[in-house]
Amino acid sequence: MTLLENILHTVEDVSVIPTAISLNKYTRLDLSVNNPALKTATLTNAAEFEAFIESKLAENDAKVAYGGYNEERNLYKRSTIFNKEAIDERNMHIGLDLWIKAGTSILCAVDGIVHSFQDNTGLGDYGPTIIMKHELNKEIFYTLYGHLSRASLAGLTVGATYKKGQQLGTLGDATVNGDYAPHLHFQIISDIQKYSGDYPGVCSKKELAYYLENCPDPNILLKLNA
Ligand SMILES: [Zn+2]
Repeated sequence: MTLLENILHTVEDVSVIPTAISLNKYTRLDLSVNNPALKTATLTNAAEFEAFIESKLAENDAKVAYGGYNEERNLYKRSTIFNKEAIDERNMHIGLDLWIKAGTSILCAVDGIVHSFQDNTGLGDYGPTIIMKHELNKEIFYTLYGHLSRASLAGLTVGATYKKGQQLGTLGDATVNGDYAPHLHFQIISDIQKYSGDYPGVCSKKELAYYLENCPDPNILLKLNA
């Protein structure tokens, strides 16, 4: 484990969605190229994808489906932003997704200040996005919240402080979130470089080692294990 991972591991009771949803209502969702259900399902648009998520939730008597860190996915093939160069396809997902209804409150993971925010428009992109800056045990890191509602960005100011568990915004729907079924993309970033309001959530296999180190598994913080 890296120093940052060790620090994240020690933080308890972290949630980025309302804690009224108990952990036994979470179910793990496999969206990888290895999931046979995805080979037969037609998931060409957000409505079909949402129906697929809803069926998974119903099957498991769950309210939240989650997963996707270090997951190889086919679902980015529809958008050119991920595949500008065919030889270097960006298909490795390096955040953690929480699939839940649009409008759900999104909470700040740990105490922090607003680093940056932006509406990343475009098919397959994040839509409204907030990046928070945190310091724990003198270690600085960032958390990214993607696929939010536009209202989440209204009135937000860089440098504003938020407490752990405080509401940052709400989850967006397919009309603003890059045309996905509603979900939060939650990612931890160690070195944010020059990025502002945006940061890659998907990378190529060639870049994977760098991104896995720079973006540790968000579940070290969230500790979901359904
Ligand atoms: Zn994601």
